[in-house]
Amino acid sequence: MSSPPADPAAAVRWTRDADLGARTSFRVPARAAWLAELPDSGALPAVLADPRVEAHGHLVIGGGSNLLFAGPFPGVALALADDAINVLADDGGHAIVRAGAGRGWHDFVRHTLALGLSGLENLSLIPGTVGAAPIQNIGAYGVEIDRRVHAVEAWDRDAGARVRLPAADCGFAYRDSRFKRETGRWIVTAVEFALARTPRLELGYAGIGAELAAMGITAPTPLDVSDAVCRIRRRKLPDPGVLGNAGSFFKNPIVPAAQADALLAQAPDMPCFAGGAPGLRKLSAAWLIEAAGWKGHREGDAGVAPGHALVLVNHGRATGAELLGLARRIAASVQERFGVALEPEPRIVGADW
Ligand SMILES: Cc1cc2nc3c(=O)[nH]c(=O)nc-3n(C[C@H](O)[C@H](O)[C@H](O)COP(=O)(O)OP(=O)(O)OC[C@H]3O[C@@H](n4cnc5c(N)ncnc54)[C@H](O)[C@@H]3O)c2cc1C
Repeated sequence: MSSPPADPAAAVRWTRDADLGARTSFRVPARAAWLAELPDSGALPAVLADPRVEAHGHLVIGGGSNLLFAGPFPGVALALADDAINVLADDGGHAIVRAGAGRGWHDFVRHTLALGLSGLENLSLIPGTVGAAPIQNIGAYGVEIDRRVHAVEAWDRDAGARVRLPAADCGFAYRDSRFKRETGRWIVTAVEFALARTPRLELGYAGIGAELAAMGITAPTPLDVSDAVCRIRRRKLPDPGVLGNAGSFFKNPIVPAAQADALLAQAPDMPCFAGGAPGLRKLSAAWLIEAAGWKGHREGDAGVAPGHALVLVNHGRATGAELLGLARRIAASVQERFGVALEPEPRIVGADW
């Protein structure tokens, strides 16, 4: 006689008053009333119907590299563990590869490269999980994942159903998506990527070509590009294992072209890029913060990285509330000096921006 199918809800591990500090890259004190660890996303309907979630809500936690706990979370933190990778289709030119939400992002990128597939190499070494990647449409070195996502599989809390959204329905924008805007509605369970067997390398951005030249490589493979990106990132960004941080703390602001032109008239060296739509320009938040005098600034253990004005750091015992206070003062000073509003990139838990 065959045994009955295992109940995924029975495998969920519940922890009361969970300490999440070590699960976040800022390494600040962080607690949730409950942590539910789901080996299988099939347990989501049961977990979401649990009174502990119904009373105080849920917060999905992946690698914790884009979260700032400014206070405790009163509900249930959900950690999805599914890390399976499957090739769904492969016509010899392109392949569709699916990864579970719990897979480490960089590990997934390297796995696709080992399969001979290209498209994600510029996004190497971004911390976090596959499931979080569509939330803010991660991007680096000239590539954002919206150009590589085929579909996102998610649990829709509004519909109470599992759905599969083609990339065009995900509302992707610069460091944004409908998953981020419609907070609490979506739990991403897996992501499908469309990747190529014939590489079309993107080498034009921020020193990749120079790094490859320094590595003595003249005909780079996608794996070489990944290695070059890793070398640049290890040099430029503080390692969260050594100095707590969440990468860029602010998004690059998008402003009307007329405002950008007025600022350029005062500061001709200010970086200014196309803003993704006619009449808009993207400014460099790092430049604005450095020009306002904050680079390397430190208040107790909360600080701005000495080498990177966009990265807030925890020098040891900073709290999330202290880092949030510093971030608000930086934004206020940039607003006062340049008339430009800065928006935080990480999700802030336990306080409003
Ligand atoms: C050193 C460093 C460098 C970084 N560099 C970059 C960079 O170059 N480009 C870039 O874009 N980002 C960068 N980041 C930010 C971060 O790595 C990404 O945003 C990453 O995708 C976050 O993944 P995570 O699993 O850690 O998400 P978490 O921090 O755990 O969560 C982030 C948000 O996504 C939500 N979330 C997570 N998983 C799911 C899910 N399965 N379903 C629904 N919601 C979910 C969370 O609730 C939260 O709102 C960097 C961070 C660090 C620390």
